Amino acid sequence: MKIDGACHCGYITIEGEADPEKSTICHCTDRQTGTGSAFRVSVPVSGATFRMSGQATTYLKTTADSGNPRVQAFCPRCGSPIYSTTPGDGPQPSYTVRVGILRQRKEFTPRRQNWFRSAQPWVTGLAALHKNEKQA
Ligand SMILES: [Zn+2]
Repeated sequence: MKIDGACHCGYITIEGEADPEKSTICHCTDRQTGTGSAFRVSVPVSGATFRMSGQATTYLKTTADSGNPRVQAFCPRCGSPIYSTTPGDGPQPSYTVRVGILRQRKEFTPRRQNWFRSAQPWVTGLAALHKNEKQA
């Protein structure tokens, strides 16, 4: 399906095509640090369809849990994570886009969880927590 989205401040916008069936949670410790949260939800977008406006800031994470170097891209103004991809010049084959920046985020229910051995133990118990419809 077609997707589009923007960072928190709107400087970076993206569009492309993504399959909701490929939406994935990653619990690895790099994702916990990189999000400042317990996990990240991402979906792959083929390089052939991926478009971005604005100039993202990137850095190369060479010691990811997977052992594969990954380029991490952020908005330089607001810090929102945008995507990760393979290192190299020019367009890459695939961009792993952060579902939280997508306007269609509700349609990207995660279908699997990776690196579950690193998951925070409380993530499986969220349904039992008291729920406030807005901030209490
Ligand atoms: Zn921004």
